[in-house]
Amino acid sequence: MSINRKRPSTPPKTKIKLKLVITAGPTREYFDTIRFISNPSSGRMGYAIATAAGRAGHEVTLVSGPVELAAPAGVKLVRVETAEEMLKASRRAFAGADAAIFCAAVSDYRPKKRAGKKLPKQMMNRRIELVPTPDIAATLGQTKGRRITIGFALEDHNGRAHAEKKLERKHCDAIILNDPGNVGSDRASAEFLFRGGDWQVWPRSTKPQMAKRIVQSLQRLWAARTRATNAE
Ligand code: C5P
Repeated sequence: MSINRKRPSTPPKTKIKLKLVITAGPTREYFDTIRFISNPSSGRMGYAIATAAGRAGHEVTLVSGPVELAAPAGVKLVRVETAEEMLKASRRAFAGADAAIFCAAVSDYRPKKRAGKKLPKQMMNRRIELVPTPDIAATLGQTKGRRITIGFALEDHNGRAHAEKKLERKHCDAIILNDPGNVGSDRASAEFLFRGGDWQVWPRSTKPQMAKRIVQSLQRLWAARTRATNAE
C-alpha cells in the first residue's frame, strides 16, 4: 500500500450531521429451528460507536445481531439474527445513508440446510455442510458511490498486512485493526488506517473513548471528502 504523510486532521468547523449505518454483534446461522453457529461477540464496540455517533448529533441506524445490550438512546435499532437478515437491513438503511461502520462479527459460514423443525439427536447428521455467508461490508462497498465506509479487522498475526488487504477487498475508506484481546473486554487498543494515509496507533482506552475517536475520524474523512469535492 502506498503511504503518504498527509492526514485529514483538520477538525471540521461546522457541525456535521450524517446518516450512519452501524452493524454490531454476532450473527446466528441456524441448522435447525433451535441450533446455530455463532461467535462470542458482545456487540459492545458497535453499541459504543452508535452511542457516540448519536451524541455527536448523527442519525444512526444500528443493525444488531443478538446481544445482551439495551438500545442506545436516540438510535434506531434494527434487530436481526442471520447474516442474510443483517445484509438486508443494512442495505435498506445504507440506501439513504452517508456512511457505514461495519463492526459486526458476522459468521463467515452458514449451514447449507436449515431444517424446519428441531432435529432429533438420532437424526442429526454429524457432518454439517457449510456455505459462505454474504460479506456485508464488501457487498455494500461495491455500490457505495460517495458514501464513506469503515471496516474492522481482527487479526492475531500480520495484522497490518491483512487489514490493508481487507481495506481493498471491502472497498473501505478506512480500517480499524482490532486487537484480539479487545473481544469481551471493557478496554480496547487499535490501529487505524485510512486510504492514502499512514497507520496510526491509538492508545489503549475504554470502548466509549475508542468509539468517540472512531466517530471523530469518520467526521474528518467526511470533511476531507467534502473539501476535495468542493475544490473540483
Ligand atoms: O473478513 P473479516 O470478517 O475479517 O472482515 C471484518 C470486517 O468485515 C468487519 O468490518 C466486519 O463487520 C465485516 N464483515 C461483514 N460481513 C461479513 C464478514 C465481515 O460485513 N460476512
